[in-house]
Amino acid sequence: RIKSVKDLSGVGQAVLNKLNESGYSSLESIAVASPQDLSTVAGIPLATAQRIIKEARDALDIRFKTALEIEQERASVKKITTGSQALDGLLGGGIETRTMTELFGEFGSGKTQICHQVSVNVQLPSEKGGLSGKALYIDTEGTFRTERIKAMASALGLDPKEVLQNIMSIRAINTDHQIAIVEELQDIISKDNTIKLVVVDSITSHFRAEYSGRENLAVRQQKLNRHLHQLVRLAEIYDLAVIVTNQVMARPDMFYGDPTVAVGGHTLYHVPGIRVQIKKSRGNRRIARMVDAPHLPEGEVVFSITNTGIRD
Ligand code: ADP
Ligand code: MG
Repeated sequence: RIKSVKDLSGVGQAVLNKLNESGYSSLESIAVASPQDLSTVAGIPLATAQRIIKEARDALDIRFKTALEIEQERASVKKITTGSQALDGLLGGGIETRTMTELFGEFGSGKTQICHQVSVNVQLPSEKGGLSGKALYIDTEGTFRTERIKAMASALGLDPKEVLQNIMSIRAINTDHQIAIVEELQDIISKDNTIKLVVVDSITSHFRAEYSGRENLAVRQQKLNRHLHQLVRLAEIYDLAVIVTNQVMARPDMFYGDPTVAVGGHTLYHVPGIRVQIKKSRGNRRIARMVDAPHLPEGEVVFSITNTGIRD
């Protein structure tokens, strides 16, 4: 029976060392690897890489399943409350595990506030809408604020210091760094099953800045796609929630035809997941619109951003 990487057929000590050095130290990380990557880093033939990926997937039960089995698995998807009943309702109960949720909207719409709130709420016990879990927060814009975390934690009667300790944040400097961080996540998460939320705020800003211009479009799209799919697989394999934010123009229609805005379309439509648009309304009111979910109706709700966090 295959329990760890060394049990995979054809993985001797030399290959094992190379895999470890490259961060492929768990069955999960191998199951989600690309055969090309694995072949290159371990110095093994492509066919061998494909075989050990398959063995790792089999060992982890990643395979065709009956719809009944899938229904049973879906029933075990967990939800994290956003702090607003209306927003939770729109999301079918809250932010789901095993799924990537994209929040897109213009500057100041509240994407970052929601990310902060869910990083606090994931720590709540299940009867209060959390998962008694920890959060990993990848901050690409330098907008992560402990003050907001503390205010949100206190409002829920949680110990602010404890809540801060259960959120690990890292500032991603550029796209390569952002990509490398996500690649390392597999290792971190496979060693700590209390991590139940991964936030990338924002997923697109570095990509937009570094790959601006028509000539860079294809490469940007390819890199971003791969990055997003890695996050989706993390969510599925480790049963955790992934939230990514995506800043878009207030009126994307104005820029119709401009490739720098149209990248990934208006949203990240090419990756599986749930997409929610956040729009400013009057004062602290915000409108959330369900744009694309495999199992939820389209719809709109209103919520508020307050000093104590996201509320109805
Ligand atoms: P985005 O990430 O979508 O650009 P943010 O999540 O940063 O937007 O939201 C910024 C908005 O959140 C501010 O315009 C303000 O309305 C609200 N906000 C931020 N901090 C507080 C606070 N302490 N009290 C009340 N509202 C706040
Ligand atoms: Mg923001």
